[in-house]
Amino acid sequence: METTIKNLISLQNCDIQIKIIAKKIEDAPARLKGLSEDLAILEKQIDEEMAKFDSIKLEKRKIEKDIEEIDSKMAKSKNKLANIKSNKEYTAALKEIDDLGRDKNRLEETALELLEQIESMNVKSTEYKENKDQYRKKHEEDQKALNLELEGLIGDLKKFEDIRTDICKRIDETLLRQYDSIKNHKDGVGVSAVIKGICQACYMGIPPQKFNELMRGDKLMNCPHCMRIIYWGEDERYQE
Ligand SMILES: [Zn+2]
Repeated sequence: METTIKNLISLQNCDIQIKIIAKKIEDAPARLKGLSEDLAILEKQIDEEMAKFDSIKLEKRKIEKDIEEIDSKMAKSKNKLANIKSNKEYTAALKEIDDLGRDKNRLEETALELLEQIESMNVKSTEYKENKDQYRKKHEEDQKALNLELEGLIGDLKKFEDIRTDICKRIDETLLRQYDSIKNHKDGVGVSAVIKGICQACYMGIPPQKFNELMRGDKLMNCPHCMRIIYWGEDERYQE
């Protein structure tokens, strides 16, 4: 009986490990996906900033072109002045030059503001490029580490499955079927220790009479509440 219970405890411990490892393997693709999503978010933020930068540069070029146009208009108006005959025409031409001058000032002010923005963005854009490289590098490293971890987990799983096969060989077939059936229905736990009269899987008390029988340890028993196979957890023979 002692050996049977010890084998069942070993099998249970092995199954717990298998469950933990299998869960980690199952979660790995989502973690990998999460890493790529994190990178995509960071890259998108940077791309958006860079797009703003480009649009400011474009705006500045447009303003410079507008200024050039005003300059050529002004030159034409100044040429006209020389050939004007009447005072009225002269006044009109002067006003036109004056208006163009004001437009030009306004555009030059805007161009200056944009230039300042571009200068500070130039510094930032170098930073962004460096950040982007760093993010990519870190992403690659994280991916590599996760894949390595996954490889390790797959190796561990194989190891514990081999151990399980060995343990199963030492357990009676009917008992093994019973264990597997309970385990599959009871959240992966088929065997439970009972400590101070309490089943450690369902936390319900075992009736004193039954607990006494359990302490004797001469037969296999099930928890009357959760039906798991139980053993006396305080028994020295079952301590690891
Ligand atoms: Zn129980």
